[in-house]
Amino acid sequence: MPETHFGFQSVPEAEKAGRVRGVFDSVADRYDLMNDLMSGGLHRAWKAFAIAQSGVRPGQRVLDVAGGTGDLARALAARVGAQGLVWLTDINSAMLARGRDRLLDRGLALPVAQCDAEHLPFPDATFDLVTVAFGLRNMTHKEAALAEMRRVIRPGGRLLVLEFSRVWKPLAGAYDLYSFGVLPWLGRQVAGDAESYRYLAESIRRHPDQETLKAMMTAAGFDRVDYFNLAAGVVALHRGFCF
Ligand code: SAM
Repeated sequence: MPETHFGFQSVPEAEKAGRVRGVFDSVADRYDLMNDLMSGGLHRAWKAFAIAQSGVRPGQRVLDVAGGTGDLARALAARVGAQGLVWLTDINSAMLARGRDRLLDRGLALPVAQCDAEHLPFPDATFDLVTVAFGLRNMTHKEAALAEMRRVIRPGGRLLVLEFSRVWKPLAGAYDLYSFGVLPWLGRQVAGDAESYRYLAESIRRHPDQETLKAMMTAAGFDRVDYFNLAAGVVALHRGFCF
């Protein structure tokens, strides 16, 4: 059976999705608090930058893949307005339930679907914009997921991938200390789970770097792919168009 990576471990491909599910089942309750603590609130600025690059307009249709607790979906819903449509989707029911509840608490009843990004339950050319924030890294077959996202985007639409990436080399040592020392410690203190946050640090190291992901998006059929480094490459926003 083909193998893939789960953090630094090698696991049978068929096991990866279940292991990733375990991580997000475990962290769902404390997910938003941990995001703020781990990034010092910076994830909000990264997401705001992604929204600013979305080019999304009132009345458009948007799909947020691996949308989790709904940060992007909420901001996108404000952009498309009452005439537009934003779908919040994720493979994990615990994350999705939190996302749906957070949106409802803010008076937003968006359509929600539990689905795997590798098999999206939408017809071809449905959306003006597809977003995926901090989700692609966890997918078993990233090429298949990118191809699915390409399939559901209309001509003239675009994909935004916000994801951890390769940090500027002079900062790599300090970033390693933070990722492998502080993150699991914080995970244990706040979420009672060091392992999931060790997986986070490891999965970031295994994720394709900026140029590799750009090539993968081009191979999946996206045009004029480019990217922006954020926080010295700790995170990158990749953008691809569909002509
Ligand atoms: N997008 C949200 C954000 O930026 O806060 C959540 C990101 S969270 C780190 C990663 C999400 O990816 C989790 O909710 C997880 O369930 C989801 N995910 C992992 N594999 C997936 C897949 N194959 N299809 C859809 N969602 C997936």
